[in-house]
Amino acid sequence: MRARTRVLIAAAIVLTALAAPAQRSQPAHRWAIVLHGGAGVIERNTMDPKTEAAYRASLSKAIQAGAKVLGGGGSALDAVEASIRILEDDPLFNAGRGAVFNAEGKNELDAAIMDGSNLNAGAVAGVTRTRHPISLARAVMEKSPHVMLIGAGADAFAAEVGLEQVDPSFFFTERRWQSLVKQLEKEGMPIPPRPAGAPPAPAVPASDIETLDAHKYGTVGVVALDRHGDIAAGTSTGGTQAKKWGRVGDSPIIGAGTYASNHSCAVSATGTGEYFIRLGVAREVCNLVFFKGMPLQQAADHVIHTELEALHGDGGVIAITPDGQMAWSFNTPGMYRARIAEGRKLEVGVYSDEP
Ligand code: ASP
Repeated sequence: MRARTRVLIAAAIVLTALAAPAQRSQPAHRWAIVLHGGAGVIERNTMDPKTEAAYRASLSKAIQAGAKVLGGGGSALDAVEASIRILEDDPLFNAGRGAVFNAEGKNELDAAIMDGSNLNAGAVAGVTRTRHPISLARAVMEKSPHVMLIGAGADAFAAEVGLEQVDPSFFFTERRWQSLVKQLEKEGMPIPPRPAGAPPAPAVPASDIETLDAHKYGTVGVVALDRHGDIAAGTSTGGTQAKKWGRVGDSPIIGAGTYASNHSCAVSATGTGEYFIRLGVAREVCNLVFFKGMPLQQAADHVIHTELEALHGDGGVIAITPDGQMAWSFNTPGMYRARIAEGRKLEVGVYSDEP
């Protein structure tokens, strides 16, 4: 075969693959949305009914905001951003206000968003002054020539494009602070000074303050399918508690903690980020859907229960396809999660023994 013919055949194969989404069947519902609020050691015996009810209410409120966007004909991208902004303002979750502290007693925030219709993506890491890191990730995608910005530069860009800036103490919560102190004491590490601008330490003994040890993950993520058939994914987090040296996890890394392509699926992950980066978890799930034609649930389960477990990693994913398949999968005792689709009733889950 002549070289030119070979090139033409190869080009035709590539173009066919790009043009043919893995899912062609008609969606059962025209829009759908799945959300997580972190995975971890979340068990009935360590959760009091009031806290559990608060988590369930927060998950419902956040997913309803995204569902409203989708029901009104809005884009998957807008739905993802709308739901995540609510969770970033909710002190129960490890994102925005309520984020975990690093070993220096600071909140360093990471986020990413991806548009499955064109593979555009934006991400930020180590942000300390931008109230809504997910909106900053979106601004990076839409208003800069880049995909990822970090630290002070990312906050400066946020200010330039008019995103709300706050004092770093805005993100402070007592429960996360006490949780950090506990962990550092346990590890024999120095306790940093209470952050400037934080409210004065409460008069009650530290042991009386409910820390979030059992629920210290709390990263948030959303995947959505809109009426136009487009999918999107977003993730926002404070990372891992007591992180050091400018550590960045999987959440803002496209392909690891966040990924979306209309040709396969959209995924947001949560768990110990180092494993998710090494496996390229989000992209891995989508590759199984695209190249192997796996149903979404099977692909997610394979990555979490076979590949992640082989590395002794922990965590979970939520995922969605353009044909309306929705999935979640996790190998931890619990994962805060919710899903809803057009014409279907809302499902909210916390523990592993729930559907
Ligand atoms: N994946 C996040 C990170 O490693 C943390 C989490 O999801 O709990 O930064």
